[in-house]
Amino acid sequence: MPNQAPTEPREEPAAPESTRPAIRLSGLRKHFGDVHAVDGVDLDIPPGEFFSMLGPSGSGKTTVLRMIAGFELPTEGTIELDGHDVSRLAPFERDVNTVFQDYALFPHMTVQQNVEYGLRVKRVPKHERRERAVEALKTVRLEDYGSRKPTQLSGGQRQRVALARALVNRPKVLLLDEPLGALDLKLRQAMQLELKQIQRDVGITFVFVTHDQDEALTMSDRIAVFNNGRIEQVGPPEEVYERPASAFVAGFVGTSNLLGGRGAESVIGRPGLFSIRPEKIRIDGDLAGPAAAGDTSATGTVTDVVYAGATVRYSVALDAGGRLSVVRQNTDGVLEAGRVRLSWRDEHSFQVQ
Ligand code: ADP
Ligand code: MG
Repeated sequence: MPNQAPTEPREEPAAPESTRPAIRLSGLRKHFGDVHAVDGVDLDIPPGEFFSMLGPSGSGKTTVLRMIAGFELPTEGTIELDGHDVSRLAPFERDVNTVFQDYALFPHMTVQQNVEYGLRVKRVPKHERRERAVEALKTVRLEDYGSRKPTQLSGGQRQRVALARALVNRPKVLLLDEPLGALDLKLRQAMQLELKQIQRDVGITFVFVTHDQDEALTMSDRIAVFNNGRIEQVGPPEEVYERPASAFVAGFVGTSNLLGGRGAESVIGRPGLFSIRPEKIRIDGDLAGPAAAGDTSATGTVTDVVYAGATVRYSVALDAGGRLSVVRQNTDGVLEAGRVRLSWRDEHSFQVQ
């Protein structure tokens, strides 16, 4: 609209609801003395998305979450929630709730009282409080547990109470910091699916922090991969896994081979650093087999065979130089160590920085 008079940014009408991100981080930084915990993060998260922040310990995920929640103030940059700059607002002035790894339930209160607590503080009338808590407990499938004490629950159930306690406030955004970290593997996997289902049911934006790549791949609509206070890549799980933008992402999300130097030049045909997932590589004891069109192949020697039940992992030293790890389903038994030919579709080896 070229003829529109310029307006103060403050008075600019907010973008229509459908296009407004639930969360917008712009040039976000947080320094603790010399430590650049968050070092320039720009990110838009649309409403209703299950968004994960994935990265190794110390990469800045929690600090980003704490800034969104308002527990930390940014050194630089802004945080918008639903089109409004909340960078300087107190936590209780922001329409977000946080679920931490240590659930911090009140041990002397029942489950119902724990879930109602936040509403009691906000002086929500008793009957409404009760109804909303029952509804929240239903959402996390604990409607029959209201009268129990936290000590009478399993770890997974306690985790769901913590979730109900956050959902009862009906926030637009729920922040979850490694909420499944304290659970054992089987329970964690069950809770991953359940949490995803709950997010679909309530339809609010989830920002989920984890260092577990399987968890992020399983649950998320999109993933941001963090490294050293920065985002290396943002995208849907399949994209981040199939097309890692950097060697760091390739190595952190799943396992990947990196082929460089002489080996890359000879096998791929040009210099650079290339990533190839171990499960994309076929391994064949017949060295002279025909090469299929669109395939890259290399010969080598198996130096290591690791049996892992459903799969077998082979380490192969390439004749051209370098080493590739290959994972094969244990369908046709274990291949003997020895000379092999490896092949993969051309597009499965790609250059990374
Ligand atoms: P993550 O959640 O990815 O493990 P954090 O955001 O907790 O990472 O930490 C990022 C970096 O900032 C780490 O080096 C951590 O030691 C540092 N850090 C976090 N909080 C503080 C603090 N309050 N004071 C000083 N350093 C901190
Ligand atoms: Mg953390």
